[in-house]
Amino acid sequence: MRVFWLIPILLGQLLNARVIVVSVDGMRPDAVTILGAERLPNFYRLRAEGSFTDNARTDFHFTNTLPNHTSMITSRPVQGPCGHGLTVNAGNSNLHTQGYKAGMFDVAHDHGLSTALFSTKSKFATFDGSYDAENGAPDLVGEDNGRDKIDVFNFDFRDESSVDLYLNQMASNLWDLSMLHISLPDSAGHSSDWNVEPGSNYMNSIITVDGYLGQVFQMIDDSSELAGSTHFIVITDHGGTFGTRTHTDPLIPTNYTIPFYIWGPGVKAGGDLYELNPDFRDPGTGRPELNAIHPPIRNSMIGNLALNLLGLPAIPGSCANRSQQLRVNDPPNFTSLYPDLSPTEDANGNGQSNFFDYAIGANPIGTDRPALSPRFTPAGLLVHQRMNVTDVTPAYEISADLIRWAPLLRNATYLSISSEESSNGRWLLLQVPTFARHAYFRQVFERSE
Ligand SMILES: [Zn+2]
Repeated sequence: MRVFWLIPILLGQLLNARVIVVSVDGMRPDAVTILGAERLPNFYRLRAEGSFTDNARTDFHFTNTLPNHTSMITSRPVQGPCGHGLTVNAGNSNLHTQGYKAGMFDVAHDHGLSTALFSTKSKFATFDGSYDAENGAPDLVGEDNGRDKIDVFNFDFRDESSVDLYLNQMASNLWDLSMLHISLPDSAGHSSDWNVEPGSNYMNSIITVDGYLGQVFQMIDDSSELAGSTHFIVITDHGGTFGTRTHTDPLIPTNYTIPFYIWGPGVKAGGDLYELNPDFRDPGTGRPELNAIHPPIRNSMIGNLALNLLGLPAIPGSCANRSQQLRVNDPPNFTSLYPDLSPTEDANGNGQSNFFDYAIGANPIGTDRPALSPRFTPAGLLVHQRMNVTDVTPAYEISADLIRWAPLLRNATYLSISSEESSNGRWLLLQVPTFARHAYFRQVFERSE
């Protein structure tokens, strides 16, 4: 009868999941690596016990505070068809002038979770106002939890007292989703410079922030409710550039290059987020377009990441990390998902090998017919690929007679006209040459491990 215990234990775990997001305004990734583990024990705890990258990206067009925080909260870029459209960096703005822009607080609150936002800049009143009892959307999910999506909003321009108040209240309120904004590095950068020489005002501000992160860690470690079930995300809105005392030019690498840290249960210790997520590509020093097929990891992904860690769906209308595909542990592969299955056999008898079913995102042991791929459409070749795995390399072949096949493209996502994510893969529309009067196309998969 022991098996009956399994269900209540699992449910309890789900209900206790919490996410704390700390946004450190104006934080450059190299400030951390230059100062090192001895001076920044808590940043280095995030690096050793969690997964991270020192090469995430801000928004493409904007490297300033309010537009980027809006991107984090809504998981949208600032501009473009999916953009949230908030381009101003001041005041108490209305986020919904061009249609309602739901955010991570909407989804969490509508599902009955508690939420809080502690900020050190007055412009964050934009979020309090846009998601309040008047301007927040009606809750159409389950029980009505109201239109005010942020249970507790606090503004205090002093980091130290804001952090203290947050820690005090969090210890008793145990908000399911909370965001704490710290602005000291940004003010140090503006008043002195983004000087990454140890001893500078800017670098000393990073050491102070490390102490705040240590206080958050201590609260988690000391709390029986938080320890072992809380995820801790550390992110920033933008970097900053030495010699300019500012960070607003989106073309400058030191403005758009940012760190991204995630720590908590199930997160790979010492994991590199790009290695864990082959569909997101380390951009080097570059500045990839918003619609890049292999986008970089951006700060806008944290909204949908936080919800994923809470077991909740993505933000309606969002597009950054829309399928919540950003992984914080090793990607699955055929062997880990189907340890008892031979890749070459056909378990469900659908005429495709188990590995082929898996490679196009179908279930090799399911009874559903897989979405057969590729399909030739007037717009191009439509193919389906499994996303976020390391053991599949798709290639495409062309034939005029179905007998002789010639290679057409390998790993050819760069030829894609458009892509659309599905539940466990991605539809890609490929442009193919139309030199043959009759041409057949097929998709083959190389299996690499
Ligand atoms: Zn600033």
